[in-house]
Amino acid sequence: VEQTFVMVKPDGVRRGLIGPIISRFEQKGFELAAISLRTIDRQLAEQHYGELREKPFFGELVDYLTSGPVCAMIWRGRHAVENARAIIGRTNPVEAGPGTIRGDYGMDISGNIVHGSDSDASAAREIALFFNREAAS
Ligand code: ATP
Repeated sequence: VEQTFVMVKPDGVRRGLIGPIISRFEQKGFELAAISLRTIDRQLAEQHYGELREKPFFGELVDYLTSGPVCAMIWRGRHAVENARAIIGRTNPVEAGPGTIRGDYGMDISGNIVHGSDSDASAAREIALFFNREAAS
């Protein structure tokens, strides 16, 4: 069975959305495999979004991700990456449809509530980063 990495970002945690987000994954049919609440350091945030390093918003993105605790999770299920992205919705909450997490809870791309891996390779990389740092370094 496939698995994917999902993270409730600091704005989602501050707004009390961990519970509703977990419920949506459970209702969809996912099984929770691991969960960890913690404030991440800049190094981990920069590694996580390494492919965006050259973007003009990169510094702001790292500030956002380190501004409070995040809730990192591993979810198991069939077509885990694709199913998770479907219930999370488009990157920009303005474009995310109603019924998706970003569509229902977010207002702007700079606060889009949640992250989900975009491929099996990213899921493996991100799970190693957040749940087994020694394996990733
Ligand atoms: P995520 O990786 O968080 O699930 P994504 O894969 O849907 O998001 P990416 O294009 O990888 O989207 O962007 C990663 C994150 O960077 C977005 O979730 C958002 O928080 C932030 N981001 C992307 N574009 C912008 C932008 N133009 N301005 C500010 N932040 C942005």
